[in-house]
Amino acid sequence: MHQFDAETADLLRAIFDFTGVRLGFDPVPLDGPATPAELSARAGRTITADGIGGRRALEIFDEVLSRACISADHPRNLAFIPAAPTRLSVLFDVVVGASSIYGGSWMEGAGAVHAENETLRWLADLAGLPDTAGGVFVPGGTVGNLSALVAARQAVRARLAAEGRPMPARWRFVCGAEAHSSLYQAAMVLDADIVAVPTGEEGRLTGPLLAAALDDLAGQRDPAEQRDPAGQGDAAAHDGVFAVVATAGTTQFGIVDDLRGVVDVCRDRGLWVHADGAYGLAALAAPSARPLFDGIADVDSFIVDPHKWLFAPFDACALIYRDPALARAAHGPQRAGYLDVLDSAANWNPSDYAIGLSRRARGLPLWFSLAAHGTRAYAEAIETTLATTRAAAAQIAARPELELVRPAELSVVVFRRLGWRDADYHRWSDNLLRAGFAFVPPTRHDGETVARFAVVNPRTTPADIEAILDTMA
Ligand SMILES: *Cc1c(COP(=O)(O)O)cnc(C)c1O
Repeated sequence: MHQFDAETADLLRAIFDFTGVRLGFDPVPLDGPATPAELSARAGRTITADGIGGRRALEIFDEVLSRACISADHPRNLAFIPAAPTRLSVLFDVVVGASSIYGGSWMEGAGAVHAENETLRWLADLAGLPDTAGGVFVPGGTVGNLSALVAARQAVRARLAAEGRPMPARWRFVCGAEAHSSLYQAAMVLDADIVAVPTGEEGRLTGPLLAAALDDLAGQRDPAEQRDPAGQGDAAAHDGVFAVVATAGTTQFGIVDDLRGVVDVCRDRGLWVHADGAYGLAALAAPSARPLFDGIADVDSFIVDPHKWLFAPFDACALIYRDPALARAAHGPQRAGYLDVLDSAANWNPSDYAIGLSRRARGLPLWFSLAAHGTRAYAEAIETTLATTRAAAAQIAARPELELVRPAELSVVVFRRLGWRDADYHRWSDNLLRAGFAFVPPTRHDGETVARFAVVNPRTTPADIEAILDTMA
């Protein structure tokens, strides 16, 4: 199984042929789902005692399996948050796999971790965090948010313990009502409650809304606690609030919370602010969008997913802490006699900063592409997607049968087709996917089915948008 022979050499060429053809398509085929029965019939039995051989397995992947997977990087895939990895990042993903690097510790993966850290440094600099900031690439925003919240709660626990105060009966964190569903998963894992602050028409968590919600919690304290003279302003000690999560670009609409207002309230009350920028914080790299993120330099932690809008392959989320020692206190080192040699006191071990131990050096595809192309190319690519989004909004506004639900923010546009009901949107969307033309599933807003575009691919053009809108006429 492990020898390099003529068959392996032949397969190497075949795999690079496949990769080259896939990367050379302009555009790639959109492809689409199939049922288990269809796939069984077409692929046949692939797992057998004797093996079917690499050539045959590759053929089945090429001709059957890959065609039942929607291409996230198709320029008319505007669904959810799609992806648009650069060709260089994809090619380097192959190198990462071939290099067999263990990315969990400095001892084993120093070179890879060094390159990942330089990439994290670029992101921390874009946000304006101090030189001491740092973190780790985790599989996705879900793990990133959870890991940051674990660190935030541990920091509060340690503080209360040091002050000799009792732990609150329940732990909570606060976010806006439009915050991402992964935070609800995090709350479940943490066995904590979410305080989701209603954000009204704007959909934006602001400083005053946050302050009012925190005051509201303080007003619900039982009378014994109301009389406690020690630190009445201490929302952690009295109300179990260990963090506030600001969303820097909601998934549904691209709305950026009032980061400045949120961090100011949290500074006053000694609360950890985490910014969930899984999608939106990529736009820190775009000068035209930078003002939206005023206040980001003062957060305690943030995440951004390079696999969303920073042109890297799945799966990569950059998780960055202002004070990495607080994360290390929560996440590392994992206790086992055989791990002592990794010496977390002296070394930057990525596994000390998030949930998980073994890890792929998943930040390397972004590092390679960023190193090769330079950061200016990234700024320009994001500006291109923002310009395409503005063009899409203008086209929608100019068509009498269409109407924007809200002004476009970042690179998301949500709009309605006047006269259409739920079933019309679904029929339209299904037809476009079946035809291999576009992937634009509808979304729900305030009980209404509406259309939504998310543009993260610089190869999506205003002409693509026009062609899709023409199908709604
Ligand atoms: C996508 C997204 C997440 C979850 O990220 P995954 O990488 O899918 O786990 C979290 N928050 C926001 C705002 C997102 O858009």
